[in-house]
Amino acid sequence: MTDVVVDGKLEAVKQATKYVKETENVAEKYSAMTVSKNSDMNMNVGELQSAAFTAVPTLKSVKKIQFANAEDKQEFQKYPTKAGRRSLSRSISQSSTDSYSSAASYSDSSDDETSPRDKVQTNSTGSSDFCVKNVKQAEFGRREIEIAEQDMSALISLRKRAQGEKPLAGAKIVGCTHITAQTAVLIETLVALGAQCRWTACNIYSTQNEVAAALAETGVPVFAWKGESEDDFWWCIDRCVNAEGWQANMILDDGGDLTHWVYKKYPSVFKKARGIVEESVTGVHRLYQLSKAGKLCVPAMNVNDSVTKQKFDNLYYADVTKNNIFCHAIGRRHSHVVVCGYGEVGKGCCSALKALGSIVCITEIDPICALQGCMDGFRVVKLNEVIRQMDLVITCTGNKNVVTREQLDRMKNGCIVCNMGHSNTEIDVASLRSPELTWERVRSQVDHVIWPDGKRVVLLAEGRLLNLSCSTVPTFVLSITATTQALALIELFNAPEGRYKQDVYLLPKKMDEYVASLHLSNFDAHLTELSDEQAKYMGLNKNGPFKPNYYRY
Ligand code: NAD
Repeated sequence: MTDVVVDGKLEAVKQATKYVKETENVAEKYSAMTVSKNSDMNMNVGELQSAAFTAVPTLKSVKKIQFANAEDKQEFQKYPTKAGRRSLSRSISQSSTDSYSSAASYSDSSDDETSPRDKVQTNSTGSSDFCVKNVKQAEFGRREIEIAEQDMSALISLRKRAQGEKPLAGAKIVGCTHITAQTAVLIETLVALGAQCRWTACNIYSTQNEVAAALAETGVPVFAWKGESEDDFWWCIDRCVNAEGWQANMILDDGGDLTHWVYKKYPSVFKKARGIVEESVTGVHRLYQLSKAGKLCVPAMNVNDSVTKQKFDNLYYADVTKNNIFCHAIGRRHSHVVVCGYGEVGKGCCSALKALGSIVCITEIDPICALQGCMDGFRVVKLNEVIRQMDLVITCTGNKNVVTREQLDRMKNGCIVCNMGHSNTEIDVASLRSPELTWERVRSQVDHVIWPDGKRVVLLAEGRLLNLSCSTVPTFVLSITATTQALALIELFNAPEGRYKQDVYLLPKKMDEYVASLHLSNFDAHLTELSDEQAKYMGLNKNGPFKPNYYRY
């Protein structure tokens, strides 16, 4: 086991030393084909995919996860996840009015409150190896997937390039990600490349039911629906992993919950697994912890710290979606805003808020990020110093208890509090479920928490990841991450024995460049090619990589 530091950017840089030699990569052959010819993909920049607000269904009958022993259950309850409090009960506030009014989404079927777990459904080929809200919505979902495909032509191109070769033949991928039209394009790409996939949702609210139905209809075993309870969440993961006659040999995770479950319940999976691909800050952090403790059993790819993920998904995604969030979830402008955490997501939030005319300040623990914030024109404060004046508090740290109950108590009437980070641990929402406070659901994903003196704090998405539960998803940005994930899976699955140890790796720089090059034609961008003389002068290969691994853009 190599020495791995636990977290932070420094670690990412250290990990960069673990890049494998560019020429050794199996997936490189895909990149070599296009790094300098990006003009063969004339893509339409279609309309952004709308992830409509859907009412949270009331799930009445839930079966409990059976734990082998009390220790397992205790361990499970300790483990923090995006799905929220480690409770086995339904995760919706009991004191909220539960009057979820659905804004337009044809995926909502308010007349059908039966838990998908209590329904028997079969697809048109007779398979019932899935659990979705309503498989009959497949046709709608297919249309959404087709729309997403228009903005994800990098993956479509990958399908074409790998045609006949099937670089993922024999791969059995179990996935736990947001289940949206964009993920469906990724899943169907993996299938086209030869993989067998089983899929579940990494967030209890973000599943597009009709998309899950479309996947189930085409034969992908999907276990997910919008508005799962905590029990459902783990049940779905379990159904994905624990399939008769099928054992996963690759994991694609977003947040680490699936990886955690496999470690706890099915550790034998790791005997044959070729690796884990992890997308989120939170999940990557857990992988580094496992690695440091000497418990990581397989190689893992840290997609989160790929340049393409950091610079395009975390930064631009937060930026692009922010305006939508204000329009849809909040509906009014804010003057004083504090953004907790000035990493990539925080920077995206701040720049969007600044553009909206807000007065933005930030909190940070890291002096480098704090200085960046100062240079970008934001006041760096302690949350306690400003909490009384704020109209909007946004967390995006990937940390826990960033906004405490004491700070929630001190917020002014009407203050809005929300989380752009991965899991719902950033705001101490659990502390708000106390008898002296009243919860009032004013619309889907928007709760008023009312103090005894009448003060109201507006809590969005119950402190869960805001943009995926309350906003729209920019397909093009997600395409970049999805393509990176696909390449990471191809690389790990095809790597010869010994190339990757039981450690956490970053994708080679050249593959980051390849992912970017696949998306350039959307902008009709034309790369300048190095002349031989220039390449020699700069000491570069004409086809890249064009920057050293430590270059941070
Ligand atoms: P990052 O590591 O670049 O930034 C997080 C920042 O928070 C760091 O600079 C860190 O120093 C700071 N921080 C940590 N604890 C803090 C505290 N108690 N108070 C103030 N600052 C603190 O990570 P990132 O890429 O910006 O991602 C942040 C979170 O957002 C993660 O949970 C990630 O999974 C999630 N994420 C969300 C989206 C989205 O669209 N909403 C997209 C990508 C990632």
